[in-house]
Amino acid sequence: MTDQNYIKATIQLAEDNVARGGQPFGAILVTKFGTVLAEGVNESYIDHDCTAHAEIQALRNAGKQHKTTSFTGSTMYASGKPCAMCMAAMIQAGVEKVVYCADDDVGESYGWSTEYLYERMQRNFGEQGVEVVHVPLDEKTAVFEQYQAKHGKGSNEQMKD
Ligand SMILES: [Zn+2]
Repeated sequence: MTDQNYIKATIQLAEDNVARGGQPFGAILVTKFGTVLAEGVNESYIDHDCTAHAEIQALRNAGKQHKTTSFTGSTMYASGKPCAMCMAAMIQAGVEKVVYCADDDVGESYGWSTEYLYERMQRNFGEQGVEVVHVPLDEKTAVFEQYQAKHGKGSNEQMKD
């Protein structure tokens, strides 16, 4: 399938989702070999879950179906420009490429621009409009030690570009 065919499929998912009471977004996660891993639609209102954006739902569905959290080298097709939360989730999952349709200049007039969240996320931590309180305790370090003794270090390396 071409990029345009996948994007048309995400738009169909979005349209079907609107018909069932969801928001107008669909996404499809595809391996670098062209195999569809999973689809997702925005189910925030349906599931009462503010994180249930189409791209994240595609990652959730792919994770459940394929029993992994890593989709290194995959491509996410999305009917709208992914928001900062979804981009972060895709980075966590190892998604390598994003192909999307509606940009912010289209989304803005319908109330779906990603611009405002990106702007807030670019501010320094603690200055993003959420009060942040830091409470350092040794007990937390102990939990890191317990985890590391069992499984090794965390996932820093896969976050590095
Ligand atoms: Zn999103």
